[in-house]
Amino acid sequence: MILDWIDRHRENLLQFASDLIATPSPNLPGDERAVVEVIMTEMQRLGLTGAEIAAKSPDRPNVLFKLRGKRPGPVLMLCGHSDTKPVGDVSQWRTDPFKPVFNEGKLYGLGSTDMKGAVAAMIFATAALKQCEVDLAGDVLLVVNADEERSMKFGSEFLATEYGIHADVALLGEPSGIDGPEFEYLHLLSRGITCFKIRVFGTQMHSSLTDRLPSINANAKLANVLTRMNHELRLTFIPHSLCPAPTLNLGVKIEGGVGYGVCPGVALFEADIRTLPGMSRHQLQLDIEHCLDLMRRDDPDLHVEMEFEQPPLDWIPPTEVPADHPFVAALLISAEQVLGWRPQLSAFPGGTDASKFQGLANIPTIPSFGPGWLSLAHGPNECVGIEAIVQAAKIYALSAKSYLS
Ligand SMILES: [Zn+2]
Repeated sequence: MILDWIDRHRENLLQFASDLIATPSPNLPGDERAVVEVIMTEMQRLGLTGAEIAAKSPDRPNVLFKLRGKRPGPVLMLCGHSDTKPVGDVSQWRTDPFKPVFNEGKLYGLGSTDMKGAVAAMIFATAALKQCEVDLAGDVLLVVNADEERSMKFGSEFLATEYGIHADVALLGEPSGIDGPEFEYLHLLSRGITCFKIRVFGTQMHSSLTDRLPSINANAKLANVLTRMNHELRLTFIPHSLCPAPTLNLGVKIEGGVGYGVCPGVALFEADIRTLPGMSRHQLQLDIEHCLDLMRRDDPDLHVEMEFEQPPLDWIPPTEVPADHPFVAALLISAEQVLGWRPQLSAFPGGTDASKFQGLANIPTIPSFGPGWLSLAHGPNECVGIEAIVQAAKIYALSAKSYLS
């Protein structure tokens, strides 16, 4: 019955996804008012009345709507973000990024895959449950948040802290295809991020005197530290069944020196690690300090320091929903019913709002299961499969019905 409802409203759903793309919400600069107005109007039309707007700043609205079940039970949060990345180099787009185009089974436009298609699907899934009067034991909490693509301060962080959002489990509709079909993976794990700097000190002085007076070239020392750390740094972690190892990218940026005539007095490189569940900021610091201590022992002239980046980039925690969570089972069964095959469990490569909803509000959060491809997000000619938007609405509605039964 809910599947029939979605099929009957298919054209409305696709038109709504297209309307969302046609209403720009790039972040930067970050202003979701216009797109939220389109969302509120459509929700009214679908009978989803009484939605709440919660905002840390008036130009950064978050939409929350609760579909209350007739019987008590858990709260299932369906969540998508309404902002997009900025266009970037518009000359690389074959179509206008803000003029949605349906072509050969795909819907093109900025935010189509990340993630206005999923937002439209979640709203229609909720409407289907309401209009078909599905008997739910528990509530569906529909959330369309602001500011995922930049600071998260006005969206998930605000909702998880000041607003005090509560749910028993959450699903983010981030695109879950990577290099195969849409819905290729059901991502249960979201790697964390930690960023830090390694700074090396030398002697800033006239370069013509380095043969006569004691001197240390900070850049030369830094090169050595970077090379040795690349080979010798051992991070403490337990391999995860969905993701065997963290990433380690030392020297994502290097700075040092003044120029000709000056012996470099200070040099630094920045480093980026994508962490696994079980890793901690404290242990990571011990691992790095241990590596630096070995180098200090070998080179008494080496003056090196490690410093974490400013929050939040010092430590955005990894998150995970266990594979045996009942909502994961509901999603897999519903996906198989709609798609005819079962997505693979996996780890989401990038950061998501899960870091806030789970890291700060303790809501177990599935970081990504949605239409589209992560590999097309944030790039030119972004698109989402038309059929996948309809399939997403069906999977969301069926899995909510099953989990809240
Ligand atoms: Zn996204």
